Amino acid sequence: MFNLVKGTHDIILNEADKYTYVEQTLVQFAEFYNFKEFRTPIIESSDLFQRSVGDSSDIVRKEMYTFLDKGDRSITLRPEITAGIIRSIVNNKLLALGDYPVKAYYVGPCFRYERPQQGRYRQFNQFGIEIAGVTSPYRDVEAISFGYFALKLLGFENLKLKINSLGDDESRKNYRDALTKYFASYIDQMCDDCKDRYKLNVLRILDCKVQEDQEIIKNAPKISDYLTDKSKDYFNKVLKSLDELGIEYEIDDGLVRGLDYYSDVVFEFHYTSSKGLSYGALGAGGHYNKLIGEIGGPKDCEGCGLAMGIERLVSVMEDDQLFDNLDDSLDCYVMPLSMEYQSDALNISSSLRLNGFKSEVNLEGKSLKAMFKKANKLNAKFALIIGEDEIKTNSIICKDLSSEQQESVGIQDLIDYLDSHIGSDEEHHHECGCSSNHEGHENCCCHNHENDHHCCHEHGQEHECYNESKKEN
Ligand code: ATP
Ligand code: MG
Repeated sequence: MFNLVKGTHDIILNEADKYTYVEQTLVQFAEFYNFKEFRTPIIESSDLFQRSVGDSSDIVRKEMYTFLDKGDRSITLRPEITAGIIRSIVNNKLLALGDYPVKAYYVGPCFRYERPQQGRYRQFNQFGIEIAGVTSPYRDVEAISFGYFALKLLGFENLKLKINSLGDDESRKNYRDALTKYFASYIDQMCDDCKDRYKLNVLRILDCKVQEDQEIIKNAPKISDYLTDKSKDYFNKVLKSLDELGIEYEIDDGLVRGLDYYSDVVFEFHYTSSKGLSYGALGAGGHYNKLIGEIGGPKDCEGCGLAMGIERLVSVMEDDQLFDNLDDSLDCYVMPLSMEYQSDALNISSSLRLNGFKSEVNLEGKSLKAMFKKANKLNAKFALIIGEDEIKTNSIICKDLSSEQQESVGIQDLIDYLDSHIGSDEEHHHECGCSSNHEGHENCCCHNHENDHHCCHEHGQEHECYNESKKEN
């Protein structure tokens, strides 16, 4: 027996379905915003993160999994994905022609050597978006509103959006000077991390989670008093636009974020579940004015983005029963009455599956009673029974497991039969995994075709929502 590495967890069975559901919902919604998928390596050169996330961040100072490979290169398992995305955009010269913006989304594992606790792992999954080439404050709003509406789509009602402005370089320089002055008389009483932060980047102190330090931090100067007119104007435009979109927010002038690359607008999404549990921020992000240039892209090219922690989303959604509509039922369970009909049973299952019916077949030679038990356990809609009579008459018994009605159906009519019994529009409207939070189909995020049914369900011929090209043929 081998134990899990500390801070890691297996995502399996029903739990994995939940991760897939959350990720697919976010991905499909991102596609609506015209974000394109980027898959970058999990390993990157360590200096990428030192340069981007920043030497003064907790991540670089103590949370990175860094090692020398056999060629003596310093490699780091990515602690976040923004740096890799921007590196990729730069390396692939996607900004070189000034064709702004490049809009990317990503999903994948991140690694941080943190103290494992509720909502905090050493390997966890992030979904995120980046917009590289931001030339308008409304791009920041686009990113924030994407996050807000995506979380609403997942079912988060009482979402709290905290927002702040860190200002431009000049605002932050003035603010840092003020903070340095303020903390000078307190720093001796503060935690060791804060002592380091004081030297490396005094702004970071505002992010300290130690209770006693919080008391001191409470009375520190506020960034809002140090914003330049330009930064104030930028921030106001963002806030006004959020108002227009009906997005509620709370200005939190203590919000600075744990990564060094942010400037101007920063934000976090918080949520407390009905059990009163909060797992920290569900997602967070902001604007970055230097990161792209630092990584070798066009010098004045700015960007913005956000990342969400899938583990935290799944935990809160479990607490609030937001997965109740996830359908893990089976359409058909095929039951051969003896071993000699196993190959017929397999052939029928194969045809069911090719026609889009989710099916399982018993090839374990179980008794009829045991097979019915299994069909119920698997939450099957139909039991399809094959015995000697059925083979002789080229038919199959279809038993509807909810009504307990059964009929003998000719093999050549089986698909039509199931289509009319399982494939009714009425039912499918509500079986679409990603419309589970909606009444009808209008808002279903995978509803990207004229035909107003069969979202993610693949029964029958018209059900091809993931395969637009097929439709054209
Ligand atoms: P926190 O303040 O909670 O440590 P962070 O500021 O370090 O979060 P980001 O780097 O902005 O987090 O990452 C974006 C999101 O990723 C977070 O909002 C959170 O949902 C998730 N996240 C961050 N660290 C972890 C972790 N160790 N385990 C699980 N999820 C995490
Ligand atoms: Mg952190």
